[in-house]
Amino acid sequence: MPPRLPEALEKKIAARLHYYEDLGIRQFYKDHAVRVSVTDNMPAAPVAAEPAASVSAISYEESPLPKPTPRPNPVGPGFSLASPTASASTPVLPRAAGPSLFDAVNKIPGDTLLKIREDLGDCTRCKLHKTRKNIVFADGNPKAELIFVGEGPGADEDAQGLPFVGRAGKLLNQMIEAMGLRRQDVYICNVVKCRPPENRLPEKDEIEKCSPFLLRQLDTIVPKVIVCLGACAAQTLLETNRGISQFRGQWLDFRGHKLIATYHPAYLLRNPSAKAEVWKDLQKVMAVLGLEVKKGKSA
Ligand code: URA
Repeated sequence: MPPRLPEALEKKIAARLHYYEDLGIRQFYKDHAVRVSVTDNMPAAPVAAEPAASVSAISYEESPLPKPTPRPNPVGPGFSLASPTASASTPVLPRAAGPSLFDAVNKIPGDTLLKIREDLGDCTRCKLHKTRKNIVFADGNPKAELIFVGEGPGADEDAQGLPFVGRAGKLLNQMIEAMGLRRQDVYICNVVKCRPPENRLPEKDEIEKCSPFLLRQLDTIVPKVIVCLGACAAQTLLETNRGISQFRGQWLDFRGHKLIATYHPAYLLRNPSAKAEVWKDLQKVMAVLGLEVKKGKSA
């Protein structure tokens, strides 16, 4: 049994949890490398509707984002970093506790999207298969330079077997077009390929079963840029429990790919004022892809 916390600290934690609950944040990860303290001050309003992807434990303190560790930049020259102090490397976030989903996995030589789809088959690896209508594998260009990764199919996607075809998908299409691209120029997929019932967040075991297929998709396409749409995708690929607002819009590294996280289109439907932030993130992506950045134009 872990030792009991002092009563005063327990009360502070309970108050903090109620506060987060009021904001719609109910799930937390614990970072390995992070030691964290509860302070008397409540945090400056975190972004509420982008919760952590999975439950593990609650950390007590919040440490600042790490200073980027000096190491060779795996993505080569020409990659401009968000932080002016980080010119020689891509920042890596502290990882969540537990075994890594991705570190030990090597790229499969000769892998193809067709093989990945065949290996996935009529998947029954997790409980989501019981309620899904269709597996939602992906949509778009298998040679895309840009991949969008969402959370998981909703009702429309489940019915059609395609990602991002509902209201959030229409907004994503507008975002893609505002970038000067068409939907068929990019590749769109999700962390989980089957709809979580009632559109709940995908659970840890579901993500663990499904993410090897996502990893193979990303490794096969070799995009220039991965855009994580929302906390679930970002936290899954980066294996962190940090709130997305802590690293949104920063260039990060995922297995040698440039990765940037931005808010999910569904979040933008509820919070249209956040579109300006997302547009800034997309403009960074456009700059890396060599697309003309048009001032003021957003989805
Ligand atoms: N939201 C997602 O995260 N993915 C979809 O495919 C649709 C909505």
